Amino acid sequence: MNTTDIQLIRNHMQGETCTAASLEKWHDWKWQMRHAVRDISMVEKIFDRTFAPEIRARIEKTLGKFPMSITPYYLSLVDPDDLDNDPVFKQAFPDERELLIAPHDMADPLAEDRDSPVPGLTHRYPDRVLLHVSNTCAMYCRHCTRKRKVGDRDSIPDRDQISQGIEYIRQNTNIRDVLLSGGDPFMLSDEYIDWILSEVTAIEHVEVVRIGTRTPVVLPYRITDELVAVLEKYENLWINTHFNHPREITGSARKALRKLWKAGIPLGNQSVLLADINDCPRIMKRLVQMLVKNRVRPYYIYQCDLSEGLEHFRTSIGKGIEIMESLRGHTSGFAVPTYVVDAPGGGGKIPVAPNYLISWSTNKAILRNFEGVITTYQEPDTYKHNFCNLDCDNCNLQLKLDNSDETQAVGIERLLSDYDEMITLTPSYLEEEQAQ
Ligand SMILES: *Cc1c(COP(=O)(O)O)cnc(C)c1O
Ligand code: SF4
Repeated sequence: MNTTDIQLIRNHMQGETCTAASLEKWHDWKWQMRHAVRDISMVEKIFDRTFAPEIRARIEKTLGKFPMSITPYYLSLVDPDDLDNDPVFKQAFPDERELLIAPHDMADPLAEDRDSPVPGLTHRYPDRVLLHVSNTCAMYCRHCTRKRKVGDRDSIPDRDQISQGIEYIRQNTNIRDVLLSGGDPFMLSDEYIDWILSEVTAIEHVEVVRIGTRTPVVLPYRITDELVAVLEKYENLWINTHFNHPREITGSARKALRKLWKAGIPLGNQSVLLADINDCPRIMKRLVQMLVKNRVRPYYIYQCDLSEGLEHFRTSIGKGIEIMESLRGHTSGFAVPTYVVDAPGGGGKIPVAPNYLISWSTNKAILRNFEGVITTYQEPDTYKHNFCNLDCDNCNLQLKLDNSDETQAVGIERLLSDYDEMITLTPSYLEEEQAQ
């Protein structure tokens, strides 16, 4: 990066006007990628600051394990006068605490490798799979749950591996929802994305395809007209993005989002709850409100995972519940995401929320609302349980679906059902003990 480029970043940081030629460069996502900031000296030059040798050495060491890559665009959102406390800078710039492995940290907290029938594909839920199609990102989030793999040259999924994943989806007719993830799928070329989408959507039993991308946040110029023309062809496509802080919703980000929704693509957002970045009810409320203003539906707030080196980003679950308490009722219902803990060890996402059902009797439920009003819901005296033995042809309700009587209940659903005799769920280690 030469001094003109550094000046360009500074101009954007300070909101100064640029020449048309330099703006054209800036809006070119490939220019942004080529000029991504990957070493400390560049950060020092841009912010006109020198790190003390021992701090520098520790940051270098962190970089040796987890690479850095910050697009000039994303870096320009940083407030240079408050660098150490900046929510954008903290998500992008390495911290030596990433090298600390806390006692409960895990290399693969979500057991994605265990639930992986073919390389690069995680099949954890009955009807949907996660397919890793890319291993790079425009900006490497310091809080990434998959940082062990992302950016690692040895785990780049090639066309062969992706084909294997697609073949697995083709063979498993119960898969109706495919999540393309990574890394960031939008780091691939338009043609490559087109190929993957056409292969996946051609599978008859696939009803929905989703792409998870952070490019609208860290590289909004990636959302080009050409890319949108590709995406627009697929009518069952949803996109989830990853905004964590209101500061990230800039004019450029909003333009990128507008292109996507104008193409008819439903947009969702998944945030991660991060200590000292967005662990504040007011920040989160502002974030979800700005998202819906831009037609993005807040989908999940994730509790930060137990991945190695993320301890300094983790909050208590109580903080998440406090945030949910401050959202429900206090703002538009569709601006309220679901707060989830991705179960360590690979149990999937578990929703966590404040308690609204305070007590219950045979004919009354006692509920409380967001203001603390405690109310009584009188249960109906006439309601009769609708017994289900899965014989839909003999039922009063009309479920005219093929194979509707082939349902298999799972977990608590199974305990509640009439057609299954099971009355307890027993941990497998107890079953083993009993068998002895
Ligand atoms: C999050 C996730 C999904 C999708 O879960 P939804 O709750 O449907 O969004 C699917 N597979 C894996 C492995 C996941 O982690
Ligand atoms: S964009 Fe997603 S996959 Fe990439 S580094 Fe950030 S969190 Fe990880």
